[in-house]
Order: sequence, then C-alpha cells, then structure tokens
Amino acid sequence: MKRLMTCIECPQGCRLEVEADGTRLISVTGYKCKRGQAYARQETEAPSRTLTTSVLTRGLELKMLPVRTSKPIPREKLFAAMEAVKRIVVTSPVKAGSVIAPDFLGLGVDLVACRRLEKA
Ligand code: SF4
Repeated sequence: MKRLMTCIECPQGCRLEVEADGTRLISVTGYKCKRGQAYARQETEAPSRTLTTSVLTRGLELKMLPVRTSKPIPREKLFAAMEAVKRIVVTSPVKAGSVIAPDFLGLGVDLVACRRLEKA
C-alpha cells in the first residue's frame, strides 16, 4: 500500500511517498536527506509521539500543570497514557523538567513538568 506523509524532522516538510506491506517498509521517495528516510521507517514500523498535555494540581498557583513525556511513546499507548494522566494530581511545587511520573506506564520514559509552579 502506498501513502503520502510529510516529514516533520525539519521545517522543509518534504512530502514522502511511502510504500509498505503492513508495518514493513518497502520504499520511500521524496526525502531530501536521510532523516526523512528514517522518519518514514519509524512512522511505518513503530509510530511514536511525544505526549504533551496537562495534569491537575492542588494547592499550587495554577490549577493545571503542562507536562510532556521525556521521549516519544508508542502511538498505540497514547490513549492509556491520557487515562493515566487524568489520575495524576500534583501537590508540591515543581521546576521545569521535574519528573512527575517516573517510568510512566512502564514505557521507559518519564512524565515531566514543562514549567515551574509554586505554592498558591
Ligand atoms: S527529508 Fe530531510 S530535508 Fe526533508 S523535511 Fe525531512 S529532515 Fe527536512
């Protein structure tokens, strides 16, 4: 099966034509550098995304804390990750980069704070 995708590895946004047999990459055209080829392979064989969202807080200066995963996680885990995020409540001040949930969902990545938050 052939499909089009846009490489998001740099602002050039090359249009890639990808041929795959399920999750097996057969060919890629349209890339201007090797990163595009690698991106097409990753997207075909093991798509992943960095989760960016917010968690609830209690007793801090804002009601929500923006968070993200420290690395991309498998795309099929995003729903479970969002469900887990709903159960998190941060009650202590944090700095940008503070780990909110280590080894989040056992995926080998941390959920980290995107900004500093102080007590209310
Ligand atoms: S293929 Fe290379 S040049 Fe094109 S968008 Fe991807 S990283 Fe940028």
